[in-house]
Amino acid sequence: MSDSLQGQVIVVTGASSGMGKAIALESARRGAKVVLIARRQVELEKVASQVRDLGGEVVVLPADLSKADAISTLFQRLVQAVKQVDVLVNAAGFGKFGEFVHSDMQTVTDMFQVNVLGLMYFTRLVGRLMIDQKHGQIVNFGSIAGKVPTAKSAAYSASKAAVIQFSNVLRLELKPFGVHVMTVNPGPVYTNFFNIADASGKYLQNVEAFVLDPDDVAWEVVHFFGTNKRELNLPLSLSLACKFYNLFPTIGDYISLKVASLK
Ligand code: NAP
Repeated sequence: MSDSLQGQVIVVTGASSGMGKAIALESARRGAKVVLIARRQVELEKVASQVRDLGGEVVVLPADLSKADAISTLFQRLVQAVKQVDVLVNAAGFGKFGEFVHSDMQTVTDMFQVNVLGLMYFTRLVGRLMIDQKHGQIVNFGSIAGKVPTAKSAAYSASKAAVIQFSNVLRLELKPFGVHVMTVNPGPVYTNFFNIADASGKYLQNVEAFVLDPDDVAWEVVHFFGTNKRELNLPLSLSLACKFYNLFPTIGDYISLKVASLK
């Protein structure tokens, strides 16, 4: 493992905000060329300017990852802009909390379109490029929510469970080609995510003890670039909760309902 990313190209979706933005900046700090992808060009340009201030090279590619056509165009622009992709970080995504039976199915569809299908479409294209290169790493954002159930997040949690299992299979398929797949599964992180997922702010207050700083998550993620680490579950307390839930799901459900379903 080397902490220098000199000469490497790191492509980050969800780079206009939160953990994607923090990962892009941490990569630039370590000498990488970064490619920033999200919908809001103005926000991407602000991140690009921060990258340049760090002395880094940057490419801005605005795109809506909920649309298959936009992803094809994005990929064409990507291969025109860079010679190789060393790491693809799929951080774009969003959640919306609420009881599933009362949820709006369009929101559920949109969530799957970005969190799961958009991630798959883009990974399929970049994955082929990495096979040709004979190296690369794909870093997919799941969530602790995709591993341990808590109430009022059925659709979001399902989308993240899908990302985790998609990545588990992809890891096996790409291993012979020297391409590694890692999932990042954080607990709550202090980002714009919660302004969309839970506008009341109640959930963030209730889980304050576990809330992570996006810069700390970014440091951990970038630290594992270039390795074959399978998954990064953060923080340690929730990583242990995942293991406990796998071993004792019935007790896990009881605890989740009593103390962990705080939305
Ligand atoms: P964030 O600050 O809200 O960032 C989300 C990013 O996704 C933004 O850059 C947003 O950019 C991008 N995005 C959303 N929809 C998009 C679309 N249709 N096309 C392209 N980009 C899109 O949230 P975050 O916390 O950093 O989230 C990063 C990832 O971590 C997400 O996958 C999230 O589910 C996951 N996660 C978050 C937490 C948490 O507690 N924060 C915990 C576990 C996992 P634009 O709006 O500019 O498009």
